[in-house]
Amino acid sequence: MTPPRVRFAPSPTGFLHVGGARTALFNWLFARRHAGTFVLRIEDTDRTRSNPRMTEAILNGMTWMGLDWDEGPIFQLDGEARHREDALALLAAGSAYRCFCSPELLETRRAELATAGSERGYDQHCRNVTPEESAARAAAGEPFALRFRVPAGETSWDDAVYGPIRFNNADIEDFVILRSDGTPVYNMAVVSDDIEMAITQVIRGEDHISNTPKQILLYRALGAPLPVFAHVPMILGPDGKRLSKRHGATAVEEYQSQGILPDALVNFLALLGWSPGNDDEILSRDEMVARFSLDAINKKSAVFDAQKLEWMNGRYMAVTPAAELAPLVAARMVAHGIIDDSFLASHQDWLSRLIDLLRTRARTVDELALQTQPYLSESVHYDGDAVAQHWKDVGAVRERLERIRTRIAPLDRWEPEALEVEIRGVATDLGVGAGKVIHPLRVALTGVDKSPGIFEVAAILGRDVVLHRIDAALRSLGNGS
Ligand code: GLU
Repeated sequence: MTPPRVRFAPSPTGFLHVGGARTALFNWLFARRHAGTFVLRIEDTDRTRSNPRMTEAILNGMTWMGLDWDEGPIFQLDGEARHREDALALLAAGSAYRCFCSPELLETRRAELATAGSERGYDQHCRNVTPEESAARAAAGEPFALRFRVPAGETSWDDAVYGPIRFNNADIEDFVILRSDGTPVYNMAVVSDDIEMAITQVIRGEDHISNTPKQILLYRALGAPLPVFAHVPMILGPDGKRLSKRHGATAVEEYQSQGILPDALVNFLALLGWSPGNDDEILSRDEMVARFSLDAINKKSAVFDAQKLEWMNGRYMAVTPAAELAPLVAARMVAHGIIDDSFLASHQDWLSRLIDLLRTRARTVDELALQTQPYLSESVHYDGDAVAQHWKDVGAVRERLERIRTRIAPLDRWEPEALEVEIRGVATDLGVGAGKVIHPLRVALTGVDKSPGIFEVAAILGRDVVLHRIDAALRSLGNGS
């Protein structure tokens, strides 16, 4: 097989949607699998809806996901002269004709055809204008659009995902390829570009299936070989409806700011519609590249399960080096007002240690950032349930906390192991189980009844904070009377 050339061709009319990101990913995986070329083409021909800010957001999203492209970004608008030349070549060859119908006339006929129950919206009124008359009217300055002369018969292709797909040409109207203002329409631009860029596989969303027969007709009329078409199924929300904002975040940027890791999102999106052939769920990029094939894309629509994405992200968070997570966590801590911008520079190691302590309890970077709060706040907020459960016997709790304070205050090495010896020692001295000492201490230090190992927590808080919090707890407990 000659190395394939594939492309991702987003329109910069919105942010990078997870559906678009998945299309980009499948193209990228296919290109990398076969040592091919991945082209990025920005389809900016809709001047009113295209926005350079969206182009930037798309490029940023792809870069963040690690979907590097080999050529581009190529801007479709730059190829407009070629699109027009191709359309005019079709006119010269007789595959297209001039249509002189005014927009008002077209509208009236469209309404008549719709009433008559026709699939077509154009009655081919100008199809039989003779070439001589057509040329004369154009020369006289009459405005015209170019329409493709759809031949009789059928148009079919063997879709790499959906299998054979067939359209009756009688249902395809003689579509416009060049508007009366000289601008090419979408299908003309796409085909002209895909031919120019020698694209061998067109991998795109299934919402384009209805465009494909028109595009195939254009390829044939232009004498160009057809690429393979692979339409990837839609992404649905959990309620079975097309994924939309109603279901929550749909833009890659939103996941980025929520603290989803790019590798986790890539892994998750890859499995939306593609199966590696077994139940494997955590796959590295290399594994995905090695195993990717268009045949293994499922025809059935895929359901976007945000909880599964979070679960997967948790798995990635567990293995990502703390130093790599630190800037991401710090950014979310700044966003939540927990720290300011200068914090990370002076606390890099401390934050990495805290991340190591907390990471298994968080599924997103954002969750982790929020969990850092008790380690940085001035005072502890005591959770009512935790107090009711672990500080019930005020006299006994006071005694245990006082004893802990006395034993740990003078420690030479403020480290988990040394702290553990002293804290467990209190339980031994009092003849109670270790839990009777550890739980009240946890409430004193964190305010809640669940945290990472309390000896590590005490170590990372540092001596001053721990003693200060024990004192505050003792004050809060009162004398028990
Ligand atoms: N620009 C089109 C879109 O964003 C994609 C066209 C294609 O992949 O052929 O939906």
